[in-house]
Amino acid sequence: MTMIKMPKRYPELANPQMRPRFTGVPTFFRLPLSEDLAGLDIGIIGVPYDGGVTNRPGARHGPREVRNQSSLMRVFNEGTGVAPFLGRRVADLGDCWIEQPYALEGAHAEIAEFFHAVKAAEVTTLAVGGDHSISLPILRAVAAKGPLGMVHIDAHCDTGDDYLGSRFHHGAPFRRAVEENLLDPRRVIQIGIRGTVNDPRMWAFSRESGMRVLPMDEFHDEGWRFALAEAKRVIGEAPAYLSFDIDSLDPVYAPGTGTPETGGISTIEAMRLLRGLTGCRFVGADLVEVSPPFDQGGITAFHGAAILFELLCLLAAAEGDVQRPGAGAA
Ligand code: MN
Ligand code: MN
Repeated sequence: MTMIKMPKRYPELANPQMRPRFTGVPTFFRLPLSEDLAGLDIGIIGVPYDGGVTNRPGARHGPREVRNQSSLMRVFNEGTGVAPFLGRRVADLGDCWIEQPYALEGAHAEIAEFFHAVKAAEVTTLAVGGDHSISLPILRAVAAKGPLGMVHIDAHCDTGDDYLGSRFHHGAPFRRAVEENLLDPRRVIQIGIRGTVNDPRMWAFSRESGMRVLPMDEFHDEGWRFALAEAKRVIGEAPAYLSFDIDSLDPVYAPGTGTPETGGISTIEAMRLLRGLTGCRFVGADLVEVSPPFDQGGITAFHGAAILFELLCLLAAAEGDVQRPGAGAA
């Protein structure tokens, strides 16, 4: 390969991730953009689809803004010592864009097909939505070999039923996933649940199917350490998925989302909770519901990018030890 500009004084700057962070084209974490699956361990995939929202749209613009804000991230996790780019081959696989976006169930089938292709190459997927309806077709690919456990962090359980004539929307993916035997509800925990409802039984499916619902009031009373212990207890040792809805965060941190609910998780609580899950057997993850048109100064996409880095570290660590040199030393 012939490079136009070769670094003269700092050879490490041949790596785009080591260059000044305001330079370059904004891929996820300034990774190489590639549609080639060969030799990869983890692929980060944008899913710019928001045809499943029940209220404010805009999450189709989420992947691009999270890419942009993710250029602020560096390469090591100081909280856990995980070095995802040293230990694993990671790429930005571009977008799972939809050929026929006006038909929701067809769009979901296109998403499932895309993720099936990535899984067939034995590449672990980290998705950036998009609205939360995308988690169902992703699970159809990731859980193809049997039901998974799940850590689900969200203001909403997303286990509703038919809404305005559709069984598929961003308030129902995990009910459908249980019905399709993609999730084992007894190994699912939902953290951060809150807000108003029109129907007191809106999320009844979660509890009746055996999911552990950890509402925001309980999180606030017992703290992130308790939520972490509960999450580990519920998912156990078997493979699990991690789904992070940005509306789990308090709207002061994440105003740019479709269905904000006041009184949510703070960013430091979310970071501590996620870092505490290092070593769990996560086989895939997603970050959803960042809606840039409702954002203020990029704050939601920025926090989304920081959360995405934690999710990447969890996936990297789930495949074996990936500590940076010297991590853990006194
Ligand atoms: Mn959700
Ligand atoms: Mn939500």
